[in-house]
Amino acid sequence: MSTIKATDKQALLDQIAADIVTDNICTDLASEATQLVFGHGNPDADIVFVGEAPGKKEDETGLPFVGAAGKFLDEMLGSVDLKRQDVYITNIVKYRPPSNRDPLPEEKAEFLPYLHKQLEVIRPKVLITLGRHSMESFVPNMRISEIHGQPKRVRGQVVLPLYHPAAALYNGGLRETLLEDFSQIPSLLKQLN
Ligand code: URA
Repeated sequence: MSTIKATDKQALLDQIAADIVTDNICTDLASEATQLVFGHGNPDADIVFVGEAPGKKEDETGLPFVGAAGKFLDEMLGSVDLKRQDVYITNIVKYRPPSNRDPLPEEKAEFLPYLHKQLEVIRPKVLITLGRHSMESFVPNMRISEIHGQPKRVRGQVVLPLYHPAAALYNGGLRETLLEDFSQIPSLLKQLN
């Protein structure tokens, strides 16, 4: 745990969320979205999950991973005795892309500095990327099929690339792979303590 108090960290995170709006980030996405889905959870967490972009339910509620993929994420967290309140969850792109299309490279690039600021505040021990889009922002030029479940150190930050939980919803085989990759999280955290 770092020396900044969790309440101060939350205030810093709230300021970054406000900056995204005042800096007019991705105005096209913003104009179609209901609201910003900035991130949610423990601002002092050891683990931060980074997904791709909000979907319909996330757009409606303002919270990340609250739809079908989120249910599976909750199940995987439970499998290693973690709850949402223990971790922090966010996305690369923080407005819902229309019709849930993939985020564009320029959209990811516009949001990335704000994600880096979020991570500077939280300072997690492990950053877990969910899916290819998130992985590429931290571990570029790799194939998720080759490196999923293998922790990497990127400029001092431990990054664990995982498949996106939604992938397991349409490819049942990935469910076991994700659960297996998840099962190493406790020992990885222990090693980093
Ligand atoms: N998929 C994501 O990548 N992020 C969410 O918040 C929800 C679904």
